Amino acid sequence: MHEYSGAIHVHSTDSDGRWPLPGIMRAADRAGLDFLALTDHDTLAARSHEGWWGSVLLVVGHEVTPDKEHYLAFGLDTVVPPVLGESDRYMAEVTARGGFGFIAHPFDRGNPRVHVPSYEWRPALTWAEETENPPPAGAFAGIEVWNYYSEWLGSQRTVPGALRALAMPKVYSPGPAPLGLALWDAVGRTRRVAGIGGLDVHGVDGSFPWRRIRVMTYDFAFRALRTNVLLDRPLSPPAKKGAAPSGAAEAGSGKGGADDIRAVLEALRQGRALLVDAGQGPAKGARFWAAPAGAAGAAAGGATDAVDAADVTHSSRALPGDEVRADSPLLRDGRPLELNFTVPAPARLVILRDGRPLAEGFGRALRAMTPGPGVYRAEAHRWRARWRPWILTNPIYVRGGETA
Ligand SMILES: [Zn+2]
Ligand SMILES: [Zn+2]
Repeated sequence: MHEYSGAIHVHSTDSDGRWPLPGIMRAADRAGLDFLALTDHDTLAARSHEGWWGSVLLVVGHEVTPDKEHYLAFGLDTVVPPVLGESDRYMAEVTARGGFGFIAHPFDRGNPRVHVPSYEWRPALTWAEETENPPPAGAFAGIEVWNYYSEWLGSQRTVPGALRALAMPKVYSPGPAPLGLALWDAVGRTRRVAGIGGLDVHGVDGSFPWRRIRVMTYDFAFRALRTNVLLDRPLSPPAKKGAAPSGAAEAGSGKGGADDIRAVLEALRQGRALLVDAGQGPAKGARFWAAPAGAAGAAAGGATDAVDAADVTHSSRALPGDEVRADSPLLRDGRPLELNFTVPAPARLVILRDGRPLAEGFGRALRAMTPGPGVYRAEAHRWRARWRPWILTNPIYVRGGETA
């Protein structure tokens, strides 16, 4: 698999962001991003600039932005207008026009201390908590499970807390909203639902008398929460990383890359992706897969560290975003699957089934058997004053097999 690291949910001067697109693309290049998904409010003004900016692929979607219930829409040529209270309608309209979308910051709390209102999804609470009230079928492809800015802002409710968070924003990033994870797990029980991490970066900075605040600058955010996609084939940027650090971006607009954009969007739509807080450490190479017990990976002799993810070909395993149905050859004779989670540095690892821990451990690899159908995903946490979320994989959905 080929892994590419991207920043999603970025605002420019086309709506209420601070920087115009060329500066944002230069910052993306400095941060080493492979792709960037721009989602300005209710505009696709930058659509003609999609494509490769040097070694960074620009994908342009838009954020459908009523007063609440924002929706990140991709794959569209025209803007779908926002209508407060009619999220079912604009979600359906995005689909009807051939696009797809993610419900943005579903449990945003705002922050009354700084007069920022909540932009939450009002129906999402019942979707997460009441099985008899599921979301409209097929309405959204996925959920912005972790909105970096919304969580960071919403969690700073005291002056000392806010000062601490401003001084060390990386360390005091609170992670995804627990309700967002609950919603993800709940919807996943009935259908595939892709999770993404969004920055919601507007390039805001400011200063104390004694110190410049760089909380949500583009340069800061692009080194924080990312969504890494896994592709079957490599992308084809016209420039190598570092070959033209600013020159290519300076040239002004994106070039080519239509196939590459389609590949990245398809991976996001399917949930062939991991959410990664790069501020907690580089995470490229993390993998989560399911394979028949006793197949390739397990042959390594029980030592989980010896399992090489590259040894297991895609046809013989399920990856994040895959639904393993009852008739899948992976579920021979209804036998359980072996789940493997490997990460590039030691961390606290958890494999979850339907939102509850199935296996836990500390190290670079964790293995578990599936006790039956379920929504299986994995998380890695690293220690920074407390356990901080580092990597969240999208789920592997096992729909068949016997319950042990
Ligand atoms: Zn929003
Ligand atoms: Zn936004």
